[in-house]
Amino acid sequence: MITGSFPVAIFQTIFEKSPGSLLVQGDKPRFTIIAASDTYLEITSSIRENIVGKGFFEVFPDDATPNDDNSARKVFTKVVETGQKIDIPVYRFDVLNSNTKKYEVRYWSCCNTPIACGGNEVAYILNTVVDITREVKAKEAALENENRLRLAADAAALGTWELNIQSQAFSYSPRLAEIFGHPQDTSLSILDVRAQINRDDMGHIVIDAYFKALRTGKYLYEVRITRPDGSLRWIKVQGVLIYDERKMPLILLGTILDTTESKRDEIRKNDFIAMASHELKTPLTSIKAYLQLLSRKLTPSNDSFIDNALQIANLQVNRMTDLIHGFLDLSKLEPGKLKVDTQVFDLNKLIEEMIAESTLISPNHEISFIPGKDLTVAADREKIGQVMTNFLSNAIKYSNKGSKIMVSSKLKAGNVEVAVADEGFGINAKDQEKLFQRFYRVESLRMKNISGFGIGLYLASEIIQRHKGKIWVESAEDMGSTFYFSLPLHNK
Ligand code: ADP
Repeated sequence: MITGSFPVAIFQTIFEKSPGSLLVQGDKPRFTIIAASDTYLEITSSIRENIVGKGFFEVFPDDATPNDDNSARKVFTKVVETGQKIDIPVYRFDVLNSNTKKYEVRYWSCCNTPIACGGNEVAYILNTVVDITREVKAKEAALENENRLRLAADAAALGTWELNIQSQAFSYSPRLAEIFGHPQDTSLSILDVRAQINRDDMGHIVIDAYFKALRTGKYLYEVRITRPDGSLRWIKVQGVLIYDERKMPLILLGTILDTTESKRDEIRKNDFIAMASHELKTPLTSIKAYLQLLSRKLTPSNDSFIDNALQIANLQVNRMTDLIHGFLDLSKLEPGKLKVDTQVFDLNKLIEEMIAESTLISPNHEISFIPGKDLTVAADREKIGQVMTNFLSNAIKYSNKGSKIMVSSKLKAGNVEVAVADEGFGINAKDQEKLFQRFYRVESLRMKNISGFGIGLYLASEIIQRHKGKIWVESAEDMGSTFYFSLPLHNK
């Protein structure tokens, strides 16, 4: 309550400065306008002198919507007759823009408060409006975007999902239930979904991908699932991690795709590669043996052409043998197919053997080795040897003759870490991300003349992952590269 003498003029000023307010008399059906605030005039593009004292519908005709329950005429009349306040959260109407002379859609949020002066009669209505056109349009645009996204997801047969990391609450689109072989409206928990994932894939693929997502923010895996009818499908799950304001992982969300058909194609292709490579091995072994016999019989000859031709033929046959072995290994990479034959061995000894072999083949590089102490691992000796050979042959291939290669091994936090550092061309950060993908090769002029298929590092990374180890690279263009792998130390 305001006490003391308070001039009416001050109330008038306060009213005129209040947001979006109009005071009309309760004299239905005229509803004479008593006062209007500055923002009300602004919102309605009107001038105070032109409206105050006039009937509301003289200046704001609502002939366009006489039957609309939200029309001003109906609302004002109802307020006067019932004495009740009426709110209209969203009121849509067209306004003539005086500049463009075109009608524009506007949205208001209105509130009509009855004011009784003494008796029960409604003497005035306080009509307050807020222009919410921008908010409504933004919401409409967001909805439209969402609809578009949904349409695109439907067209691609993509399912979408969201997992709350802390509560494990799981929500998803109907397509996800369908992919898992259930009716679209089935209610599935994250545990129900995980129970359908192939057990072999769950550990080393799904759990690994989950922890990788916690580290990198990106979630990606492809696994087999079994539907309730017993059929086997392949799914590809992709997602991103969203953090809360304290940078703690909050939500994992993404898409799911049924990749069974393309996976079947890939398996067929791999089977073909395996079969073709296998068939090629026998004639190639025979060619190699005959070439060796010929070399032994003919060289050194007096004919430099023969010496040269035999040397090149031997080189090419060796290159082809390497390729065929690579393809054979590649085709063995389907889940469960790459067999790890574990044995306990001294890693330093294996490294020394691999360095000796590489030095024999490429005597133009100086390879040094700093071994760590007592590095015993339980792993597939042949396959770890293959990873070492790949690191060494790449270090040789992608650096200049005469440059140094430094190999080291050491114990670090319960793991054995091996590094192969070269002084070669180096790799930029963008290429480093993709280096361990199948068939990935850096595209540059220098690399063009160096043969390769981009499968060595992919195979190496698969081998190391199957051993629960890690593989990575540190490099910069023209600064050389260091390739690393680490394996759990064998506890005797
Ligand atoms: P390949 O050597 O047969 O192409 P890899 O999978 O072994 O296949 O290597 C993939 C790519 O990574 C190579 O094509 C090369 O561009 C790059 N790369 C690998 N090792 C090195 C290295 N030590 N220095 C520079 N680039 C390398």
